[in-house]
Amino acid sequence: MIRRISLEESGNHAILLYGPQGAGKSELASILAQMWLCTNPTPAGACGECRTCSSLDRGTCADLLTIAPSGPSRMIMNRDITEPSNKKPDDPVPLLDFFRTPPLRARHKVAILFESDRMNGASCNALLKTLEEPPAFAKMILTTDSVGSLPATILSRCLAVACEVPLEKDLLLSFPEATPEEIRFASGAPGRLRTVLDRKDQYDRLLAFAQKLPTRRASEALVVSEEFSGILESFQKVVPGGARAANAEAIDALALYFAREPSCPQGWTQRMIEAHRRIVANGSAGLVLDAMFTALLTR
Ligand SMILES: [Zn+2]
Repeated sequence: MIRRISLEESGNHAILLYGPQGAGKSELASILAQMWLCTNPTPAGACGECRTCSSLDRGTCADLLTIAPSGPSRMIMNRDITEPSNKKPDDPVPLLDFFRTPPLRARHKVAILFESDRMNGASCNALLKTLEEPPAFAKMILTTDSVGSLPATILSRCLAVACEVPLEKDLLLSFPEATPEEIRFASGAPGRLRTVLDRKDQYDRLLAFAQKLPTRRASEALVVSEEFSGILESFQKVVPGGARAANAEAIDALALYFAREPSCPQGWTQRMIEAHRRIVANGSAGLVLDAMFTALLTR
């Protein structure tokens, strides 16, 4: 379904991915974005090798904009969508500005709006203009677990795609020894599950850490970060491709675990995905993780 959407050039410019938390909407949004951005897509999806695909891996693709709720009220701010009147130098590029110029290198420009139901009325109205008359290169992906909270004007301009949690029983036929947690770390993907099972010691440690994480206090953030660094070291011993690849695998698995954890505090998965991007981009895991755990546990 997603493959058909992405390769159809004439068709949809806005996709709404909706479904319960843990259905993999964020991952699906990333896959779809990469298919739209990749300059050399194959019928199976993005090539994974072109300059755009590698810039996505490094988290430096200028043709991708991601917007997520922020601040204590967890809203998508008006300034995320339009130019604020009192713009500060380190403000993010608003969506309307982003779509003002054609892509630098990618086939399209893609904006992902995570938890798009967290837009206020002014943001919705500003977004509507772009949804109504998008430039030919513009693609938008909205996600929500609360489709009923989005205004009908937005809904009617998006192709809505339902996301459901994949069935574990099919995977268990091929991997009868796998636990539900291991399937979760692998995001239900058979190739990845094989890796998880090969690195059982590392993933067992990661699981024990993940299960305890929601009970940790803000004052423990740096201790928690230190513990996680110990887990990263154990991954570094078995993951080929150096420390960066090992760190990326572990933090990605942690994000996947919480993406399907019903009791996961709101926003955790996105912060982890964001930290994953930063680690892949510059490799200095320590600072990124200290900041991430502080943000996760401060609530
Ligand atoms: Zn590519």
